[in-house]
Amino acid sequence: MTVRFLIIGGGPAGNTAATYAARLGAEVIVVEREIVGGAAHLMDCIPSKTMIATGGAMTFGRKSAGMGLEEMQPEVDVEALTDRIEDIKDHLSNSTTELLVSQGVRIIKGSASFASPHSAIVTTADGSKETIEFDAAMISTGSRPRIPDWVQPDGERILTTRDCYPPKIFPTNVCIVGSGVTGVEFVHMFESFGAKVSLVVSRQQVLPGKDPEVAAVLEEDFLRRGVRLLKGARAESIEREGDEVVIKCDDGRQVRASHAVLTIGSVPNSDGLNLDLAGVHMDGGGYVPINHHCITNVEHIYAAGDVSGKLPLSSVASMQGRKIAEHVMGLHTREHRHLDYDKAASAIFTEPEIADVGLAEAEAFAHGRKIRVTKVPFSATPKALINNDARGFVKIISDPATGVVLGGSIVGRHAAELISVIALAVTANLKVSDIVESLLVHPALAEALAEAAE
Ligand SMILES: Cc1cc2nc3c(=O)[nH]c(=O)nc-3n(C[C@H](O)[C@H](O)[C@H](O)COP(=O)(O)OP(=O)(O)OC[C@H]3O[C@@H](n4cnc5c(N)ncnc54)[C@H](O)[C@@H]3O)c2cc1C
Repeated sequence: MTVRFLIIGGGPAGNTAATYAARLGAEVIVVEREIVGGAAHLMDCIPSKTMIATGGAMTFGRKSAGMGLEEMQPEVDVEALTDRIEDIKDHLSNSTTELLVSQGVRIIKGSASFASPHSAIVTTADGSKETIEFDAAMISTGSRPRIPDWVQPDGERILTTRDCYPPKIFPTNVCIVGSGVTGVEFVHMFESFGAKVSLVVSRQQVLPGKDPEVAAVLEEDFLRRGVRLLKGARAESIEREGDEVVIKCDDGRQVRASHAVLTIGSVPNSDGLNLDLAGVHMDGGGYVPINHHCITNVEHIYAAGDVSGKLPLSSVASMQGRKIAEHVMGLHTREHRHLDYDKAASAIFTEPEIADVGLAEAEAFAHGRKIRVTKVPFSATPKALINNDARGFVKIISDPATGVVLGGSIVGRHAAELISVIALAVTANLKVSDIVESLLVHPALAEALAEAAE
């Protein structure tokens, strides 16, 4: 009997589940209200990385003298950059749609909400309604920027991240409120486009929770670039005064800027789904709790991606989607490997880039776990000197008794790519000797990985 699988939300979680389930023989229906490919994915992740890449090209141009070139002073072309962002977004959305359609997935443009544990109602843009019956369903509705009650974004000068692209103008003087991953990426992005930037950091370290040594490299870079860091300050009001915004902090400090951008997390898109009619529980924050198979409290209803309250990463959302498709089609009884969130690699697209995976040094110490930590700076790597960028390091954490790689972090150019080697080692329980004995390319930044594994 064919399984009828309804997926609400066509982001990385939803479309990955759809493609795998269709391949495995399910009848798949995806309901998406905005953009196939995902709102957070295509309206946050991709445009921010595209703008950061353009900002990086500008920074590279400014540093051209160090490469033996005459110094360049690149200027941004806002219209061309906007077209570039839209082209990439359209390309990704269209190719995802084409793949799903070619696999027989039915895509409905509309908004879905549950009507019962085995049915949902889809309302399309023209107001028409359709009831969909299902054997299994998946909630993958993503998230949106969190707006606290002490500020009212106006889309002009008081902005959420989604108001920043495509860029209408570039702020000349911007205050970023919130120093997590998104906050530091926005600091880097606006500074590389030439803005004066302030960052409100509620703790004593940017990137709270990250390895302090890693955060220190980033703070040093920000200070060198003239970023004003307001550490230990919580913003408590943001108001417009003419062409300025005034950000007041709880310690009495204030910042005047042309724009303020809120980067203080996200909230799940679980409202309006009528989860109660399906019997699905939410937690106090509106997230939908799941077990290790991504199943909610209702046996045949799954949740994945940001709405599940696990790691808010596109890569994690996709992997959850894949695991759900296998579970829906009964494959978990054979080759199913549980998703281990502790082994997810993540990256921060600043300059230098920061990436990490697996066990962190501080976490090991907190649990009294014996570890071996080896660290190699890129300044000892020929390719880093050739690249004219020897900042940062590679750190590998391993088990001193067995040599098994437990985690690592990389700060430096291409860290987001290089971390894949350590991520593979962590997932496959490889030993440091496996990295050391790999015949790597020379000259390459990856040589620092082999050295750190020695
Ligand atoms: C600024 C920023 C930068 C980021 N950068 C990165 C990065 O570099 N790398 C990374 O891995 N992650 C990044 N992320 C996180 C990443 O974007 C999310 O973790 C990811 O998109 C989550 O995927 P998802 O499938 O859960 O949700 P989404 O991508 O948001 O997809 C959910 C979809 O559900 C639809 N939907 C919602 N409700 C309904 C409904 N009732 N009916 C029908 N459709 C509905 C929405 O329209 C949306 O398209 C970033 C996030 C932000 C905010």
